[in-house]
Amino acid sequence: MAKAKDPVCGMMVDTEKAPAKGVYDGQTVYFCNPGCQKTYEARRKPK
Ligand SMILES: [Zn+2]
Repeated sequence: MAKAKDPVCGMMVDTEKAPAKGVYDGQTVYFCNPGCQKTYEARRKPK
């Protein structure tokens, strides 16, 4: 099983069971929950 680090909160996430993930600049990023993904996206694209 592969694990990836949630870039928002630093938690290790199982890539096969990640509650949320997205592809940014061709790289898949995994999150522990959809809220962290939203935070990540908000940081990437500040309004
Ligand atoms: Zn998280």
